[in-house]
Amino acid sequence: MRCPFCGAPDTKVTDSRLAGEGDQVRRRRKCEVCSERFTTYETVELNLPRVIKRDGSRVLFELNKVRSGMMRALEKRPVSTEQVDQALARIQRQVIERGEDEVPSLWIGELVMDELRQLDQVAYVRFASVYRHFEDVAAFREEIERLERQLRKSAPQLDLFERVKPDDDR
Ligand SMILES: [Zn+2]
Repeated sequence: MRCPFCGAPDTKVTDSRLAGEGDQVRRRRKCEVCSERFTTYETVELNLPRVIKRDGSRVLFELNKVRSGMMRALEKRPVSTEQVDQALARIQRQVIERGEDEVPSLWIGELVMDELRQLDQVAYVRFASVYRHFEDVAAFREEIERLERQLRKSAPQLDLFERVKPDDDR
């Protein structure tokens, strides 16, 4: 790194240690030309994109918003916080890997739906019904029926909505 005092093109790192909550590296540097010392902090720049909403407006991508949407769908469902965090990490990784400055909110919604489908079918239907704005009752019923067919294949005894009944939780 260039010396901020004399502009020499290179400086020597004399000490390197973790800072912050371990997500920063603090480096002491010394210029071998003018002997000034200074400190730099290094952090990961995640370059999160902006999100293009349905109405065309742009907002910053915030994982917390994704989390609260997922949590609403997962209310009273048997899914651990750890599972949710892992799903969120996968979603964020895909958003970063896409490497674009802007991503459509619909695409993020699809990522969430993919994760929920793996985690919990009921949460998936809850989320999808809000997110996809099922145009009419028929479209919604179709999706439910598709899910039920899928479930019957993997777990014939399972009723899709058995656990949504009130007072079923503890
Ligand atoms: Zn210098």
